[in-house]
Amino acid sequence: MPRPCKCRYVGFRPEACYFKPRGIPLSELEEVVLTMDEFESIRLADLEEMYQEQAAEQMNVSRQTFGNIINSAHKKIAEALVNARAVRIDGGVYRMSGMKRFKCHQCGHTWEIPYGTPRPADCPQCRDENIHRSEEDRGARRGGFGRGRRRCRSLRI
Ligand SMILES: [Zn+2]
Repeated sequence: MPRPCKCRYVGFRPEACYFKPRGIPLSELEEVVLTMDEFESIRLADLEEMYQEQAAEQMNVSRQTFGNIINSAHKKIAEALVNARAVRIDGGVYRMSGMKRFKCHQCGHTWEIPYGTPRPADCPQCRDENIHRSEEDRGARRGGFGRGRRRCRSLRI
């Protein structure tokens, strides 16, 4: 029996994915790797102060799995702070949610921007103004991924 896709949803891409202690050369640093789903768990539970049930639902995981993810994230961050490690945010099996997709009629270029950012005025590639929301993306914000056939994949940043 095929197992259902258990991709974890991540709604935010970090602006910076590498943090290091000042004054220690990179070559002497040990690195802690925080996966994207661990990063997202911290963002939802610690920064946005969501209940774990709610955060788990948003990430498409069980409450228990969410607990495991965030425990692992906390431990890694603690280790980085206490032992002066660099932190790299990278990897994990996840997909981006909360992105809206646009398509340019002129050149066919498609791109994604996060929800909450203003609608772009023109195509970033050809600067034509004849752009529209991509159909396949409609209503995909909250648990609405069911209709699309997009495959789970592991994204690298
Ligand atoms: Zn274009």
